Amino acid sequence: MNLVWLRNDLRLDDNPALYHACQQGQPVAVLYCITPTQWRLHHESPIKLGFRQDALNQLGQALAQRGIPLEVIQAARFDDLPGCIVDHCIQRGIRKLWFNEEIPVDERHRDQQVVEALSDAGVRYEMQVSDQILPQPVFNQQGAYFKVFTPWYRAWLKQLPEIGDCTLPEPEAIAPPLPAPAAIALPGSEPYRRDLWPADEQHALSRLTHFVQERRARYSECRDIPSINGTSGLSPYLANGLLSPRRCLQVIRQLATMDGWEWRDDPWLRELGWREFYRYLMIGFPRLSRNQPFKLQTRALQWERNEEGVVAWQQGRTGFPLVDAGMRQLRQTGWMHNRLRMLTASFLCKLLLVDWRIGEAFFMEQLLDGDFASNNGGWQWSASTGCDASPWFRIFNPTRQSERFDPEGQFIRTLIPELATVENRLIHNPPPALREQLGYPQPVIDYRQARERVLERFRVLT
Ligand SMILES: Cc1cc2nc3c(=O)[nH]c(=O)nc-3n(C[C@H](O)[C@H](O)[C@H](O)COP(=O)(O)OP(=O)(O)OC[C@H]3O[C@@H](n4cnc5c(N)ncnc54)[C@H](O)[C@@H]3O)c2cc1C
Repeated sequence: MNLVWLRNDLRLDDNPALYHACQQGQPVAVLYCITPTQWRLHHESPIKLGFRQDALNQLGQALAQRGIPLEVIQAARFDDLPGCIVDHCIQRGIRKLWFNEEIPVDERHRDQQVVEALSDAGVRYEMQVSDQILPQPVFNQQGAYFKVFTPWYRAWLKQLPEIGDCTLPEPEAIAPPLPAPAAIALPGSEPYRRDLWPADEQHALSRLTHFVQERRARYSECRDIPSINGTSGLSPYLANGLLSPRRCLQVIRQLATMDGWEWRDDPWLRELGWREFYRYLMIGFPRLSRNQPFKLQTRALQWERNEEGVVAWQQGRTGFPLVDAGMRQLRQTGWMHNRLRMLTASFLCKLLLVDWRIGEAFFMEQLLDGDFASNNGGWQWSASTGCDASPWFRIFNPTRQSERFDPEGQFIRTLIPELATVENRLIHNPPPALREQLGYPQPVIDYRQARERVLERFRVLT
C-alpha cells in the first residue's frame, strides 16, 4: 500500500505526489495530520482552518469516489509527527510514503525528521517537487542567489519554455468507490466567507479560467483600485494548495497561444512571479523563516512600543480613512486588496514605527490566504528590511494614496459607514469637527512628524 501525506496541497489536480502514487498499480491511502499547537505557533488563522476543513471534507469525498481513503492523525506539533507517522505506516502496512516538498524551514526540518524515522523503520519515501512553477532555483552568473526581483524574473522566464507544460491530471479511480467518509473537524477553526471563497477545487479552477479569459486583459489598469474587482481573488486557493501555480501558468500559455499574445509579457504572471520569488528567497536565506530581516543592518532599527496605535490600526480606527477601510476589509472578509496591504503595512511600520513582525503575525492570524513566504515578503518589503524592498525613504502618505487609488471614496464609503455621507472633497481627510459629529476618530499621528521620525531612525543605519 502507498500512502500520500497531504499538507498544503489539498487538491486532485496537478498534485505530483498523489498522481505518481496512484500510478503504481497498488492500493493508495491519503493521510492528513492535524497539528493544532504547531498551527497556533505559526499564527494560522481560525478562518483559514475553517477553509481548510471544508477543503479536506470535499477532498475526502472526491478521493472516496476514486477508491482512496482519507485518514487523519493528530499530534500537537511537527516534532511529534515522526513517531506518529511511523506508527501509522506500520499499522497500515505502508510500503512507501509520498509527499510534495514544502519550503519554509520548520516544514523542511519536519520532513527531514520524518524521513529519518521512516528509514529506521524500513519504510521508503518519495518526495516530489511541488507548489513551485519552476522546480529548481535559478542562480545569477556568479552562481549565487539573485537578490533583485527583475533579473531573477528574467532568468526564471527563460527557463519556463524548457520545463514545458508539466501539469498533471487528476488521478483516476484506482478501486471501487468507498462509502462517504465521516466529516473531519479541525480544532480552532471558525466560519469564513464561504460566499466569497467556497473551499472547492473545481471553483478555483473555473475562477482561474474565467479570470484569465475575461478579466486578465484589464488587470494592469484595474489592479490598484480597491473598489474594482480587478484582481483574480485566487490567493486563498493558491495559499491553501487548492490550486497549483503551474496550472495558472498552463492556462495563461494556452490562452496566449489561442489569442495570439505574448505570455511572457503578462503582468498577472509577474505577480505569480513575486509569489515564487519569495519562496525562492526562503530557500536561499533560511533566516527569513527565523524572524530575521533580509537586510541585517536593520536589526539595529529602534522600534516604538505603541500599544494604543497598534489597537487602533487593528480595529481600523487610525483616523486615516483608506488605511481603516483596508483593515476593516481584512476583519470582515479575511482578505485585503494588495494596494491596501502595502498601505496598511507601511502605516504600521513606518508611520507608527512598530516592528514589522507584529504586523506580520497579525495578518497571518486574520488572513484566509495567509501564506508564510508571501506575507513575510510583503511585510519586509513594506518595512524596507527585505530583499529588493521598498527604499527606506519611501513613506506612503495615506491621504495622497487615498486620493490616488480611491478618488471618489467609493471603497472607503463601503467599508466605513460613518463616512458614507461625506462628500468626495472631504472624504480622504475629514475636518476635525465633521469627524467628531460622525463618530469617526481623529488621526492617531501627525503625518509630517511621523515621517520625519522614521526617516531619522533609518538614516542612522545607512
Ligand atoms: C504586507 C503584505 C502581506 C501579504 N500577505 C500575503 C499572504 O499572506 N498571502 C498571499 O497570498 N499574498 C500576500 N500578499 C501579496 C498580495 O497582496 C496578495 O497575494 C494579493 O492581494 C491576493 O489577491 P489576488 O489573488 O486577487 O491577487 P492577484 O493580483 O490576482 O495575483 C495573483 C496571485 O499572485 C500572487 N501574488 C500577487 N501579488 C503578490 C505579491 N505582492 N507577493 C506575493 N505574491 C503575490 C498571489 O498568489 C495571488 O493570488 C501580501 C502583500 C503585502 C504587501
